[in-house]
Amino acid sequence: MITFVGAGPGAEDLITVRGQNLLREADIVVYAGSLVNPGLLSMCRENCEIYNSAKMTLEEVMEVMTAGERAGKKVVRLHTGDPCLYGAIREQMDELEKENIPYEVCPGVSSFCGAAAALGAEYTLPGVSQSVVITRMAGRTPVPDRESIRSFAAHQATMVIFLSTGMLKELSEELIRGGYAADTPAAIVYKATWPEEKVMRCTIKKLAETAEKENVTKTALIVVGRILGSEYDRSKLYDPSFTTEFREASAPVQSEK
Ligand code: SAH
Repeated sequence: MITFVGAGPGAEDLITVRGQNLLREADIVVYAGSLVNPGLLSMCRENCEIYNSAKMTLEEVMEVMTAGERAGKKVVRLHTGDPCLYGAIREQMDELEKENIPYEVCPGVSSFCGAAAALGAEYTLPGVSQSVVITRMAGRTPVPDRESIRSFAAHQATMVIFLSTGMLKELSEELIRGGYAADTPAAIVYKATWPEEKVMRCTIKKLAETAEKENVTKTALIVVGRILGSEYDRSKLYDPSFTTEFREASAPVQSEK
């Protein structure tokens, strides 16, 4: 069995219990060395074979994993955050299907959740935004035209932008062209949950300037939207005048006088 495991956003204790157990039992681990915290590998058994996929092609990764599986070994493919986002797991899973090799996915804490924690933010605030757009600027991997930053910005929903720290000037321009006001609150979260985490709050217009001042060029997420401001509505779920599945509406609290 091959298991794709989400390593979490960085901090060693933010891998899931299941992921940790899989790492402890693994005979072979192929980890995404560019972003996975190498400290996680100290959980592996002494004789576990460890490969850094940052230096490998898809073909080489598949060769290690399929040979391991055929030798009856437990193989873990360790991806940063949750493997479902920009993880390039589908191409690996399809190769495994072709070879009739069984696999499973163990989810992880994505960095967009780590960034929210660092910011103390709720991405979905009543009266502000009830949606989160996870996207990126086009880089070497193109983004379909219909998914331009500009088109998403028109919704004024919360946006979390991956893989774009080197293109912040263009990102600001696109967000503003799409309809976001230049002074909309934004944040850059560098290495969320790592010991060297940095949180920089600014406005959409000042993204590039802020990153430059703080020397941040990679491994950051950009969060954009009025959820980073101070205005929002109270939740209905905890509103005393609302009945929910679990609680009857209560009378308004009367003062003693
Ligand atoms: N699957 C991963 C994302 C991989 S793409 C996840 O779920 O988080 C790599 C990009 O993710 C980086 O370029 C950066 O934009 C972002 N990223 C990954 N870890 C991060 C972290 N700890 N803090 C901020 N951004 C991070």
